[in-house]
Amino acid sequence: MPDDVVTMDKVVALCKRRGFIFAASDIYGGIANTYDYGHYGVLLKNNVVGAWWKAMIQERDDIVALDSAIIQHPRTWEASGHLAGFTDPLIDCKTCQQRFRADHLAESPCGRKPSKLAGETPECELTEAREFNLMFETSIGPVKDAGSTVYLRPETAQGIFLDFKHVLQFARRKPPFGIAQVGKSFRNEITPGNFIFRTLEFEQMEMEFFVPPAEAQQWHEYWLKTRMDWYTDLGIRPDHLMLRPHEADELSHYSSATSDIEYRYPIGWQELEGIANRGDFDLIQHARVSGEKLEFFDQQSGERYVPHVIEPAAGVGRSVLAFLCDAYDEDEIGGEPRTVLKLHPALAPVKVAVLPLLRKDGHPEVAREIHATLKRAGLQSEYDEGGSIGKRYRRQDEIGTPFGVTVDHQTLEDRTVTVRDRDTLTQERIAIDALGDELERRLRAEWRSPKLATG
Ligand code: ATP
Repeated sequence: MPDDVVTMDKVVALCKRRGFIFAASDIYGGIANTYDYGHYGVLLKNNVVGAWWKAMIQERDDIVALDSAIIQHPRTWEASGHLAGFTDPLIDCKTCQQRFRADHLAESPCGRKPSKLAGETPECELTEAREFNLMFETSIGPVKDAGSTVYLRPETAQGIFLDFKHVLQFARRKPPFGIAQVGKSFRNEITPGNFIFRTLEFEQMEMEFFVPPAEAQQWHEYWLKTRMDWYTDLGIRPDHLMLRPHEADELSHYSSATSDIEYRYPIGWQELEGIANRGDFDLIQHARVSGEKLEFFDQQSGERYVPHVIEPAAGVGRSVLAFLCDAYDEDEIGGEPRTVLKLHPALAPVKVAVLPLLRKDGHPEVAREIHATLKRAGLQSEYDEGGSIGKRYRRQDEIGTPFGVTVDHQTLEDRTVTVRDRDTLTQERIAIDALGDELERRLRAEWRSPKLATG
């Protein structure tokens, strides 16, 4: 069985070449662990986030949406434990001036050449580990004094806990129910990033599911399965995903049980999403520090309790990276090498490319008309008439476009076009009038990664 051809370098190169994702502040030489998303990257990212909202909100009745502020009252972070405890153990090397996370020392390359691991050569002079807070600090107002210090949120979750009471009132929900949020979080990470795997600013898709305390374990198990299914339904190969329960010494300060969903990235198995049982830690803490009652009162039973919280917390960038790595493939068509993203059609940035065979004989006019009709129908369509048809197919394959529609001589005679499938490479003639419906049908059809057959 051939090995998966994907490497991190190939994915990074494709993302740069096709403008999916590239280094931020590039004209100034870049800035640590920070990336910008270009056109196809934005479309792909939006599709990932859209699929998450669909699973959280559109397909269920027990979760509501929220968009809370990035800068919250500073006492938020005192209550949540982030001010005191959101730290990484940091080690400096006095010889090469590099910084390492103490818990990542075994896989951290040293700053000198030939590259060794930190602490591996006799010249390495490592300091003792010291705790380093990951929150970015800034201040409100013109005078920087102790009272003006605020923080960029390191997770979206706390905004959800602060608004728990409002949602109970306005959304008329009772446990079990969830509050979902997507937004940027910020962490002053010191470990090298591995492309978008670990960045200073990143988007999170987090949902806090509030449950009666006695049901917490059962809901934790439910969300572990539900979130694993989300990834596999969107085409991630099941043998590239696993659930890894945290050891007792790995658990966050708020968690009584956490399992990570790990993906087998080209750099090895790494966390894609964490699913924690946060218990009543956060609501109790915010109630204590704010003086507000954060509990649920069941009018029917007269029962009053602080709900426990199950939290599936996923990274948008890490999901995008997992989908890209899982989709990346190389093959040959007619002796010509091809790079292709075998993305789930629901995630593909462009759904259909409309290509006139020739740039004359009326082909472009008909193709433009089809392109406009598909766009009006809500399909992300791209028109391309530049270069040979083979070259244009390959351009689309490389960005993962599942369908190519070609207008040729026969189109002008009988108003049919060929539809080429990215994965099977089959070409079928379809009437222009039936094209929109047929593409919709294919986009909705169940899809399985073609890479499953080759390992
Ligand atoms: P790690 O151990 O890799 O630092 P974490 O356990 O601290 O991650 P969580 O606090 O559980 O991460 O955050 C939930 C999710 O947010 C992670 O599973 C990941 O997908 C994403 N995430 C966290 N930190 C980053 C980051 N610096 N860059 C990109 N995504 C991140």
